[in-house]
Amino acid sequence: MNENAPQTLVMKFGGTSVGSPQAMSAAVQIVKNARAEWNQVVVVTSALSGVTNLLLDTAACAAQGDVSSLKDAEKSILASHQAIANALIADPNLRARTLEEITVLAHSFVELCGAVAVLGEASPRALDAIAGLGERMSIRLLAAACQSAGTLAQPVESTELIVTDDRFQNAHPDFAATTLKTRATLTPLLAQGIVPVVTGFIGATPKGALTTLGRGGSDYSAAILGAVLPADDVWIWTDVDGVMTADPRIVPAARTMPEISYSEVAELAYYGAKVLHPKTVRPVIEAGIGLRICNTFNPSHPGTRLVSRASGAKAANVIKAVTAIRKQRLVTIEGRGMLGVPGVAARAFAAVAATGTSVPLITQASSEQSICFSVPSESAQAVLSSLQATFAAEIAQRDIDRVWASEDVAIITIVGAGTRNTPGVAGQIFGRLGQESVNVLAIAHGSSDVSISLVVNQSEADASVLALHELTAN
Ligand code: ADP
Ligand code: ASP
Ligand code: MG
Repeated sequence: MNENAPQTLVMKFGGTSVGSPQAMSAAVQIVKNARAEWNQVVVVTSALSGVTNLLLDTAACAAQGDVSSLKDAEKSILASHQAIANALIADPNLRARTLEEITVLAHSFVELCGAVAVLGEASPRALDAIAGLGERMSIRLLAAACQSAGTLAQPVESTELIVTDDRFQNAHPDFAATTLKTRATLTPLLAQGIVPVVTGFIGATPKGALTTLGRGGSDYSAAILGAVLPADDVWIWTDVDGVMTADPRIVPAARTMPEISYSEVAELAYYGAKVLHPKTVRPVIEAGIGLRICNTFNPSHPGTRLVSRASGAKAANVIKAVTAIRKQRLVTIEGRGMLGVPGVAARAFAAVAATGTSVPLITQASSEQSICFSVPSESAQAVLSSLQATFAAEIAQRDIDRVWASEDVAIITIVGAGTRNTPGVAGQIFGRLGQESVNVLAIAHGSSDVSISLVVNQSEADASVLALHELTAN
């Protein structure tokens, strides 16, 4: 790296980190401190906590023709922004201007929901326009609060930076186009010592339609901007002391991991650890950028540092963390006539893909008499219908006996370098679950060497996570 190149830090604040006057005040202080230590600082923020849910829930009611909660939702959103503005924006002109802009955005929420109610449906595109309003409000508030604390800051809408395809609600960035736009907009601001305060979660198609990157996508926004600038480091500020050995809401004894490898955190995120959006890892790893997760409410804690290689795990401590995804169903296709028939799996997964459903876990009995995989519960019915249509002939001929879905299950994933290749780890896991009388319905080794996933009844998910957490190394 050129030693004279300015050091650049991207920091992302999650919803709780900006969700109250106290939280946003802590965030403002963190930005100020970072600005003193780094040449260039870019801030990415989520909507205030609860706002995105409220926007989308209200839009869902509007799509059913019910706008009875619309005015209350608007009031509540305005009130939470106002409380923070009153506490943190000292200059009355700046405060009035900021609140005026937020009020305009809140009005457009009311108008968009009104249109949705008239149409009687909310298209993915309309839902993105509505969902993105939370971040468009929060950047204005946070930038003004930073200004009030003496840090030069300016709100920037990432519709001007991140170019995506038109898969509304789960858009994919075009990195080449994003690089050009991001540098063109942010470089002049950074050169003037201004901290751009950028909307997380949203982007825009080349034609300018607002898209979102998927729920929880602000982490991904920070990684995208970090990769294209490029930044030296991306720090994710949240409400816990980094990536922990389990979700602390389920396991009170969960501990922060000071270091974890990119591949381990990618498995954790993919299998349900909400602390990091699963897409965050790839852009930073490809660009060789540092990633850190830290706590807005405990900023002196070092949090978790991502490292490229797991530190030499010994057999005794390969299990590092446990996570769970709930609300899944196991779909099974079974029949003796499937034995050795080529192409059954390919046709099955094509049928699933046609419904737009992702499959987090696949197992196949080695006898080839059944294929079993999990899908989100809400997609199970559509997946079954698609499979039944695809295999209608085989079902009629009794080559396939049954295509069916289980009750709700949870996927429990045990993460740690070496879990797959270290003798005894699977024995430890099944032994511990046996002691708890948990019935394991399916198992899949991760396709990398850092995880093992198994499926249990949803009612046994918490007990399984608690029991397996006891196997993590201290
Ligand atoms: P933010 O709004 O900052 O993006 P999220 O709510 O999306 O925060 O993610 C942080 C939450 O993730 C934590 O409060 C915690 O409950 C949950 N979580 C789940 N698994 C883990 C884990 N392994 N380590 C840390 N937090 C976890
Ligand atoms: N505000 C968005 C959400 O709630 C994005 C984020 O918080 O990361 O999904
Ligand atoms: Mg999050």
